[in-house]
Amino acid sequence: MEEIKYFKAFIRVVKSLSNERSGDGFFGSSLFGAENIVEERFIESKDKKGVLDFLLNKYPQFFPNNKIYTRETKDQAQFFYVVIFELYPHEVSEHKQDWKCSNCQQEYSSKYLHKPVIKYYDENLYFCNNDICDIEFKKQYYSQNEIPDDKKYINTNICYIYKITEKGSGKCYIGKTLNAPFFRWWNHLTHSGSPFGIYFRQSNLSNWTFEVVEILEMNTDSEVFEIESKYIKLYDSIDNGFNTLISKKTI
Ligand SMILES: [Zn+2]
Repeated sequence: MEEIKYFKAFIRVVKSLSNERSGDGFFGSSLFGAENIVEERFIESKDKKGVLDFLLNKYPQFFPNNKIYTRETKDQAQFFYVVIFELYPHEVSEHKQDWKCSNCQQEYSSKYLHKPVIKYYDENLYFCNNDICDIEFKKQYYSQNEIPDDKKYINTNICYIYKITEKGSGKCYIGKTLNAPFFRWWNHLTHSGSPFGIYFRQSNLSNWTFEVVEILEMNTDSEVFEIESKYIKLYDSIDNGFNTLISKKTI
């Protein structure tokens, strides 16, 4: 008996053929991309021929005269063709795993067909890959972790290590940013959903001091990480301050 294998297959349509002059001066027929119009992501079959038969049977509308192109040809203005891949072993094993969204509780029978967003600080929490559950994922994630730098406002490679201190208690928060420090502090005040951010926002701004403790230029991520960690230890800002986690390697 022949072994059953697992495949994925895509039926594609060539979007347009043109005789226009292309950018590099080549004059001739060119193909302007193709688009998947059918994605069959899990097909059991003993070989690729079986996959083709399956597609022909299920989607006869794409294959006039029962003819399937399996590679691109340029002799027709529009045609459909098929590409077939055998699944990787990890895709087959993911296919057999079921999971449940930690937000909407939707149950899925396959991690391969429905890929979860994994909350990476807790591998057991999965979220649907859609806007609603994604927003919930970010909300939960950033309730534990500080919001990241705003990439739109980074135009230097200067990194600032900063310290925000509560005057009365002397407790502080150490952070790093590639944004302008004032911008970063404003973000903490207005956007952060972490325990520190919430506490910070509920208190009076005049209770706090803001300072840049070191300016780093041209340092690697791991050097920045080390220096930030040094200040976190120096000011004991985890056990006796507002840092909840040891610094992450990414800025
Ligand atoms: Zn969900």
